[in-house]
Amino acid sequence: AFTNGFTKHTKQECLDIAIVGGGLVGSLAALHMAKKGHKVSLYEYREDIRTAELVIGRSINLALSVRGRKALKEVGLEDKLLEHGIAMYARMIHNTDGTRNAIPYDRRNHQAIYSVGRKYLNEVLLTAAEKYPNINLNFNKKMVGGKVDKGEVTFIDTTNEEKKNIFADLIIGCDGAFSSVRREMLKRNGFNYSQTYIEHGYLELCIPPAADGGFQMPENYLHIWPRGKFMMIALPNQDRTWTVTLFMPFENFDSIKSSEELLKFFEIYFPDAIPLIGKERLVKDFFKIPAQHLIAVKCRPYHISSKCVLIGDAGHAVVPFYGQGMNAGFEDCSILTELFNKYGSDLEKILTEFSETRWIDAHAVCDLAMYNYIEMRDLVNKKSFLMRKALDDF
Ligand code: FAD
Repeated sequence: AFTNGFTKHTKQECLDIAIVGGGLVGSLAALHMAKKGHKVSLYEYREDIRTAELVIGRSINLALSVRGRKALKEVGLEDKLLEHGIAMYARMIHNTDGTRNAIPYDRRNHQAIYSVGRKYLNEVLLTAAEKYPNINLNFNKKMVGGKVDKGEVTFIDTTNEEKKNIFADLIIGCDGAFSSVRREMLKRNGFNYSQTYIEHGYLELCIPPAADGGFQMPENYLHIWPRGKFMMIALPNQDRTWTVTLFMPFENFDSIKSSEELLKFFEIYFPDAIPLIGKERLVKDFFKIPAQHLIAVKCRPYHISSKCVLIGDAGHAVVPFYGQGMNAGFEDCSILTELFNKYGSDLEKILTEFSETRWIDAHAVCDLAMYNYIEMRDLVNKKSFLMRKALDDF
């Protein structure tokens, strides 16, 4: 699968690229850079996800949409992911009286978003990366510092505490919302950064398969229980389960202290979900781990010198309500590839243009994601005059 991607550039060197973080964006970035013919070393803090237990606390499945699909297609993986994914053509709204109504995403062309498993997606990307002779995967390597403007990173091997410095022509920081690469950039002049924790958290529950092994709800939908100040959503999984996510202000989570209070809360707001989840499982899963925080991150520029750049959540973490965090991170990989096509291996030009152009969309997605929480939990069920007119026009 090793192809030399150099075509018509003036400056064409095989670069040594170090990728920090082997999550969704890091493993896809490795594929994009290797496809361009560069030598890629990926360093991931955790053990290899393909042999690890499921990590509790991160979303189990995600909605893959057109931005993410394009970036996967560019490394030949779109079809594989779509085969695994479950198409969701509409939102299915659950009302408190037990009725449901569907709101299609695209009445005209019937386009869908796809529910894909986070672990499966990460595994597919890492397995594809392993097939490239110019990608070297390193697990249990935690970045602990470095002079990123000079292309230097310090890692600790978490299995034996050994410290090692590596040097690269380019460091790509893909180490998520709490990025260590970004922390180093923060120490330099001219780097702007802001983070916002919202006052709402999330907690994951599960709807098991039906007794006959099928889905308990119609599967080609993103199910939503909008309740004004809070909401619950459910996305389908390949094993016929549903990952259910409850988004709510922390004060509401904190007010539910016993199984009686929890069941009472569900009887008022989500009565149809109780038999789907099952009382026992609901209580067990709700109290298993505390509600998780949600953070949004904006920064600018995304690069420092011609040696280091941030992509994915490391550069622009967004709240999950627009289903675009991973998709936007995948799009970063497409954009970097386009810039490598345009400028060969002239990193100064590549990184400068990435920083100057990418922030506009990244900041917009961040703001739209904040807004879409209000849309999903409240407005989705309210027909404005314009919405009603638009629907009537179809
Ligand atoms: P991460 O997935 O956070 O990966 C970062 C990697 O870096 C990890 O593997 C980590 O172990 C590693 N790392 C961290 N620190 C270090 C270090 N010091 N050294 C080495 N490695 C390190 N997005 C969508 O597009 N659609 C959705 O439907 C969607 N749903 C979501 C639902 C929820 C509840 C949440 C919380 C998020 C959702 N997102 C969704 C957002 C999506 O999860 C993120 O945008 C995506 O995971 C970002 O990928 P990433 O690789 O940039 O970061």
